[in-house]
Amino acid sequence: MRLLENQNFENQRAIIRVDFNVPLDENLQVTDKTRIEAAKPTIDYILSHGGSCVLLSHLGRPKGNDPKLSLKHIVPEVSKILGTEVQFSETVVGEKAEAKAAALKPGQVLLMENLRYHEEETAGDENFSKQLAQLGTVYVNDAFGTAHRAHASTTIIAKYFNEKKCFGELLAKEVEAIDKVLKNGEVPILAILGGAKVSSKITIIETLLDKVDHLILGGGMVYTFTKALGGTVGNSICEPDYCDYALGLLEKAKQKGVTIHLPVDVVAGDDFSNDANQQLFESSSIPDGWEGLDAGPKSREQFHQLILKCKTILWNGPLGVFEFPNFAKGTIAIGESIGEATKSGAFSLVGGGDSVAAVKQFGLASKMSYISTGGGAMLESLEGKTLPGIAALEV
Ligand code: AMP
Repeated sequence: MRLLENQNFENQRAIIRVDFNVPLDENLQVTDKTRIEAAKPTIDYILSHGGSCVLLSHLGRPKGNDPKLSLKHIVPEVSKILGTEVQFSETVVGEKAEAKAAALKPGQVLLMENLRYHEEETAGDENFSKQLAQLGTVYVNDAFGTAHRAHASTTIIAKYFNEKKCFGELLAKEVEAIDKVLKNGEVPILAILGGAKVSSKITIIETLLDKVDHLILGGGMVYTFTKALGGTVGNSICEPDYCDYALGLLEKAKQKGVTIHLPVDVVAGDDFSNDANQQLFESSSIPDGWEGLDAGPKSREQFHQLILKCKTILWNGPLGVFEFPNFAKGTIAIGESIGEATKSGAFSLVGGGDSVAAVKQFGLASKMSYISTGGGAMLESLEGKTLPGIAALEV
């Protein structure tokens, strides 16, 4: 992996693809600074090694030059976080943009306007990529969240830099964390997959069967398995078309020596709402009028014991409808168990969408070894795909 340490930044202008796609409120103030803070180590590294920085990012999905989605709104916040006055360029490419970039002195930072004001960005346009490349002398990608896209600034641009390109610190950490689970994890390795539907996790499950020793399946996808195994699921979310697939998967897991763990009991509601009446059922016998919305206490205890025995733990997807506080116990319990295992030396990675939201919401983030910053990119990594943004840095 080409890292920051392998590059000389002395008097160099580094183009850094960052992920400053941050939420803004109605007053155009940044409401969550996490992504800006996450890019700081890479920027600091380059500045302290004699370089200047040209920051490229997208913000939202503008149709044309939507002024609400201008990156100029975040300049004060970026300046505050970096501890230096950040300059802004209203154009992304062209003479003016190039002149602004060329005028940078070591130690200075320039943020360019929203890349997605140009449709050439997402199209991965060659000419646009070449123009972007004019803005600097070294290319650094630190945006894991867009590494699964072959866009101009995330992938195509890299070919104009031969050896003078590298992973930013954040991107390197993401790749290392995924490798720690999928390539060189200490055994026993456990993956916990939750979420709504089995159909959306098929490729991930298939990939994981070759990598893990144990697989906990939770959340709504459980009921497709329950039904496939002859149980009754009441009104629970279920994909009957995937029952055969579920059975095949259980068989495949057996052949590969992977133990699949399904919840033995579920907390059901008589309605899909937080205020629904609750009742506990064995997961294989949920009567009509009830739907499984959370993992039950026996399941939570069994999962807890298993988690404590594992040395590498991957978690993707909530164990229940955690958005309803009354059905969040299973998700919170899993997070706490992983936290305990991590404290005792296990490596834990949480990634891909809702489990990250849950971990943050329930104050469990600091208990995990690593929390991925990229939803789609993480999911594609777990599907075993090589991300174009990462591949482009390695040629
Ligand atoms: P996913 O994006 O596939 O990871 O799914 C996340 C969603 O699954 C969350 O919004 C959860 O509310 C939902 N979910 C988890 N468990 C259940 C369940 N038992 N029934 C319905 N939805 C669920």
